[in-house]
Amino acid sequence: MRVLGLETTCDETAAAVVELKASGGGLILSNEIYSQTAEHAPFGGVVPELAARAHVEHLDVLMDRAVTGAGLRYGDLDAIAAAAGPGLIGGVMIGLTMGKTVALATGKPFIAVNHLEAHALTARMTDNVRFHYLLLLVSGGHTQLIAVKGVGDHLRLGTTIDDAVGEAFDKVGKLLGLPYPGGPHVERKALTGDPQRFALPRPMLGRPNADFSLSGLKTAVRLTVERAGPLTQTDVADLCASFQAAVVDVIADRTRAALKAFREKVGAPEALVVAGGVAANESIRRGLQRLAQAAGLKLVTPSPALCTDNGAMIAWTGIERLRLGLVDDFAFAPRPRWPLDPDAERALNGKA
Ligand code: AMP
Ligand code: MG
Repeated sequence: MRVLGLETTCDETAAAVVELKASGGGLILSNEIYSQTAEHAPFGGVVPELAARAHVEHLDVLMDRAVTGAGLRYGDLDAIAAAAGPGLIGGVMIGLTMGKTVALATGKPFIAVNHLEAHALTARMTDNVRFHYLLLLVSGGHTQLIAVKGVGDHLRLGTTIDDAVGEAFDKVGKLLGLPYPGGPHVERKALTGDPQRFALPRPMLGRPNADFSLSGLKTAVRLTVERAGPLTQTDVADLCASFQAAVVDVIADRTRAALKAFREKVGAPEALVVAGGVAANESIRRGLQRLAQAAGLKLVTPSPALCTDNGAMIAWTGIERLRLGLVDDFAFAPRPRWPLDPDAERALNGKA
């Protein structure tokens, strides 16, 4: 079984072909990606219109390269999968339309993939992780703790009520005059900083639910910067280290709370899986490793290239769905909002 996957929900244009291995995991035959980071950098964030235009310009070439790079022709594919949301509407429309078009032209099944589910299922492609497991998704746009129980069967245990973790890193980077995106720069500066110099808050620590809140922490950094006046290199390094230490504490505490909820609501998890661009952060990985060890759990962190947005995770989710007979028709509309667990979303918005 070989599936083409297209990803265009944010600022990565990506296409990949993945094959189902006899052992159960996925073999990545090709994985093409064009990261638009440099195009958005002058604006300090993703500009939706620029992103959509870049997807249009790059997707067809990447897709051809993914298919030929896999040693295949379009007719050899078993299905075409495209991310149908959640994400920026312009980009989603482009990937979805492209996926449907290729499916129509080749007569192959079409599969609309939830981008969040693709992150959630990546560990099954790379490490053959069995259901049920706890996923911590920490990226520029998402911060969620999810019990992954099966394909299309997810229980959201926690989410952020304001900023995503990556977003908080990026905003702190901006405050400190670091280049965009700030996350990796904050981590680098933190290496030489004193994590105890600034006493920053750890929002939500000890709360019984597993939700996050990061805007207060970001505001505390801003107030510290304003109070400090002109910053020296040492100040910047110490602020980065202090901020990162607070984030590590918050993530560990919230994940611990989610593990407790997981055990109560689902049972014993098979693993703790971490995904999203922020998973590249070494301090956060170490914090989670300590937590997993204490809980007697295996920590699975796909490689950074598979933690951030990519086409292989979309193709793999296509495989997971195709083998269950879950295909979609061409009427499937883009979904800029598409929660993995609609019940949890309604509860959070006070509509339950
Ligand atoms: P994604 O949203 O999955 O494409 O990942 C991008 C986000 O991850 C951005 O907010 C980055 O700043 C963040 N990020 C990437 N590397 C790191 C790192 N080493 N430490 C913290 N955040 C990071
Ligand atoms: Mg991205």
